[in-house]
Amino acid sequence: MLRAAGLRVTGARLAALDALAGGGHLSADEVVTEVRERLGAVSTQAGYDVLRALAAAGLARRVEPAGSPARYEARAGDNHHHVVCRSCGAIADVDCAVGGAPCLEPAAHDGFVIDEAEVTYWGLCPACQAPQSVPSRRTEVSA
Ligand SMILES: [Zn+2]
Ligand SMILES: [Zn+2]
Ligand SMILES: [Zn+2]
Repeated sequence: MLRAAGLRVTGARLAALDALAGGGHLSADEVVTEVRERLGAVSTQAGYDVLRALAAAGLARRVEPAGSPARYEARAGDNHHHVVCRSCGAIADVDCAVGGAPCLEPAAHDGFVIDEAEVTYWGLCPACQAPQSVPSRRTEVSA
């Protein structure tokens, strides 16, 4: 993958790709932690540089929902969107109903050539929808 994208193959890049291949949306620090577990000492800056290179080459996607730190994922190159939990910050993928970017047509665009609409859905994840304390169930007593 790295060679096909025109990147030199390095241990840190391979380890970062492996960390992302596990799925999900990882913070840069989470990726750097996994890279360190494999390679030992890797500076935070070096880890961030690896992620930047992977994102620039289209091998990773950077997601930055308002108010939370950037996350990285291996699912790059499609126009999927994200749903973010307002309560705990959990992120899940949402397939684009249209498929290609930009999937929303503006009513007017002032002559701009538009190539992307940034769509983020906000709501509550299943865990945060659950009642905070489950009321104890009353035992039915038949008289
Ligand atoms: Zn939540
Ligand atoms: Zn995603
Ligand atoms: Zn869409």
